[in-house]
Amino acid sequence: MSSELAALNEELKKIRQDADRIMDSSSASSSKPPVAREKISKMSAQVVDSNPYSRLMALQKMGVVEDYEAIRKKTVVVIGVGGVGSVVAEMLTRCGVGKLILFDYDKVELANMNRLFYQPHQAGFSKVEAARETLVHINPDVEIEAHNYNIITVDNYDNFLDRLVHGGLNGERIDLALSCVDNYEARVVVNKACNDLNLVWMNSGVKENAVSGQIQLMDPGRTACFMCIPPGIVAEEGDEKTLKRDGVCAASLPTTMGIVAGFLVQNTLKYLLKFGTVSGYLGYNALEDFFQKDGLKPNPECSERKCIERQKEYMARVAAEGPKEEKVKEEEKEIVHESNEWGIEIGGEEDLTQFTPASIQPSFADETPATTSKADVAALMAAMKNM
Ligand SMILES: [Zn+2]
Repeated sequence: MSSELAALNEELKKIRQDADRIMDSSSASSSKPPVAREKISKMSAQVVDSNPYSRLMALQKMGVVEDYEAIRKKTVVVIGVGGVGSVVAEMLTRCGVGKLILFDYDKVELANMNRLFYQPHQAGFSKVEAARETLVHINPDVEIEAHNYNIITVDNYDNFLDRLVHGGLNGERIDLALSCVDNYEARVVVNKACNDLNLVWMNSGVKENAVSGQIQLMDPGRTACFMCIPPGIVAEEGDEKTLKRDGVCAASLPTTMGIVAGFLVQNTLKYLLKFGTVSGYLGYNALEDFFQKDGLKPNPECSERKCIERQKEYMARVAAEGPKEEKVKEEEKEIVHESNEWGIEIGGEEDLTQFTPASIQPSFADETPATTSKADVAALMAAMKNM
């Protein structure tokens, strides 16, 4: 009798252990991971293994960045946290940006697991919430604001605009918006918002065949805006309507998406921390390992009314600053549009490829690559067609 009881007890113990294991695995996806470290109030350059910022602060000692800690005062908006945007958000979090505001209305799916960042246990969660959970764990110093909605609907657009104007630390304007969306409509909305608010943003795109991508800086009035380039060309790169047709499935690779995310964040760091040369346009063709680097001038016949206004403001500003070498060069190349069916003008001698923040370190200003010739316009257009 007692041996039977002992056997029953043993069986009960096993059942309890199994039940505990099942409970643990099912709650793992919903329970918050333990906070890995306390918040740090000031970035330190101290070289100790326990300092998460020692390698970043070393950029100052190496003479690359004058004031790395300035990144803690910056707010960056990431629109779309899919294959590119999630990696962008992670990189900026690891770099210690002050605040990130994330927008996406999609859910994590197992079909996303060929890309970086999200994990299978997050399937079914909203992307912004899953991202926030991971990012807060990586770096609790970064303030994360997440919006689980589609920015292109009328109801959400006003809130989206409000976050661009007041979403920064201390309720200020944000410092930079990054578009990492996969559809044409959302890019048009971001473009309109940034032209209206006179806000600098960067666009990114990866072609649906997964082997090419690009990033582009948009500085209202000074560089081409998204609509300065005829929509037909950009829409080909990954229009959601095209991608979601029955039987059509866009390809994606973690490699290309990771590379494009890296380009975008590199350009972002240079822009925010004023070092190196901020690229106007950087394209990547994986099949040939071909990189296209240019700057695009605004189209004086752009369909966006606000873009034209910003162009006039920019020209007035340049004129008010007095005669510069740049102005003479501008007059020299008025004819570029003749050879260009889309009216797109390469930055060329005015160095839109070389977007240089005002207080950039002089030592970098000299690193000016050869200027783009007019003949290169055709090459760029060809490259963009294939993009
Ligand atoms: Zn425009």
